Amino acid sequence: MPFPYRGRFAPSPTGPLHFGSLIAALGSCLDARQQGGTWLLRMEDVDTSRNVPGAADDILRTLAAFGFEWDGPVLYQSQRLAAYGAALEQLKQAGLAYGCACSRKEIADSATHAAIDGGLAYPGTCRKGLPDGRAARAWRLRVDNGEVAFIDRLQGRVVQHLEDDVGDFVLRRADGLFAYQLAVVVDDAWQGITDVVRGADLLASTPRQIALQRSLGYPEPVYAHLPVAANPAGEKLSKQTLAQALRVDQASAELVAALRFLGQAVPGELGRASVAEVWAWARAHWSFAAVPRQALIVLPA
Ligand code: GLU
Repeated sequence: MPFPYRGRFAPSPTGPLHFGSLIAALGSCLDARQQGGTWLLRMEDVDTSRNVPGAADDILRTLAAFGFEWDGPVLYQSQRLAAYGAALEQLKQAGLAYGCACSRKEIADSATHAAIDGGLAYPGTCRKGLPDGRAARAWRLRVDNGEVAFIDRLQGRVVQHLEDDVGDFVLRRADGLFAYQLAVVVDDAWQGITDVVRGADLLASTPRQIALQRSLGYPEPVYAHLPVAANPAGEKLSKQTLAQALRVDQASAELVAALRFLGQAVPGELGRASVAEVWAWARAHWSFAAVPRQALIVLPA
């Protein structure tokens, strides 16, 4: 018997939800509901340097106004620091995490190639121990060059060789904050997440998360990376590209647009329906098989 489906939506409170976030919320929720699963909400506020005051509450209000119903209390990553610390300790004890003294400049001066998702692949300078007289600033996971592969339900087989593709990556940053990669893996395991449905902008992070799951002895969820919406200039919708906030007074129309983006054959008359009617249609007709298998879809101007 497989474990019962448990999915989640995990926004970062760095600003209001936009159309791109709605796609991830809707896709993860409808997939969970169709499979008779649980759907949890997790506020990824671990990076306090990026949190915007009031954004977490605004996200919850917007989701509720858009008709989302999540199961159980919202998990806040800012309340989970002890768990991240314990996971890091476990990795240190196992010799899998090591302290790194390198500054950004030192890495820039010594790196030999770019990492798969931008930035620089860490050249492994502190792998064999800290240079004399230097203290650890950050903590990194020791990776190897073996193949880390998984089959994404939408994007197919994804393979990385972590040592070449990203290098030993950061678990705890020089500013003391726990890295997204560690927090997401610890929380997905703790919340018993069986299925991660999220935007394809995170596809390149997944092999790192799988490597961490293996290092910590956690189960590996099944992954589906949804197409990401881009503006007509080809840029992913985000706060950085000034994506418009979702409009609560247009909730039905925005939901219908998100369903169409996800390949669903929404009937024309649903454009004038209420939020509850759109949800009733979506829950009755959701077809995962209709979701486009692209990683990026450019929205018309
Ligand atoms: N908090 C991440 C974001 O907003 C999503 C993390 C995830 O779904 O794994 O991009």
